[in-house]
Amino acid sequence: MSECLFCGIATGEIDASVVADDDRWLAFRDINPQAPTHILVIPKRHVATVNDLTGDDETLVGELVRAAARIATDEGIAEDGYRLVLNTNAGAGQTVFHLHLHLLGGRPLSWPPG
Ligand code: AMP
Ligand code: ZN
Repeated sequence: MSECLFCGIATGEIDASVVADDDRWLAFRDINPQAPTHILVIPKRHVATVNDLTGDDETLVGELVRAAARIATDEGIAEDGYRLVLNTNAGAGQTVFHLHLHLLGGRPLSWPPG
């Protein structure tokens, strides 16, 4: 089994509550939701952080964002509003070092974030 938790989820070795699946990305519900809708969208390929993206990943990043927007619509939160977050490295609270886009919504979200 992969040592990376989200690689394990991407391959199906580790269970997750999957909401959408594609050749290049997977979306699943966060195990510790911080809002009524809290979904993570990950690339299936291991990329540790945003800092590790290359020019070849520009299309991939667009796919992650577009997937999140479609899922927000499916979840019924697109109209009211939602937040997309890419925590990058420990200072920003990143705890799983496989890039993941948080989709948060279903409640008012204050600004600035903590
Ligand atoms: P971050 O702090 O940005 O690295 O976010 C990591 C997120 O992964 C947190 O919101 C965790 O609750 C979530 N998480 C950790 N393990 C799992 C898991 N097995 N399934 C779903 N979400 C997870
Ligand atoms: Zn990984």
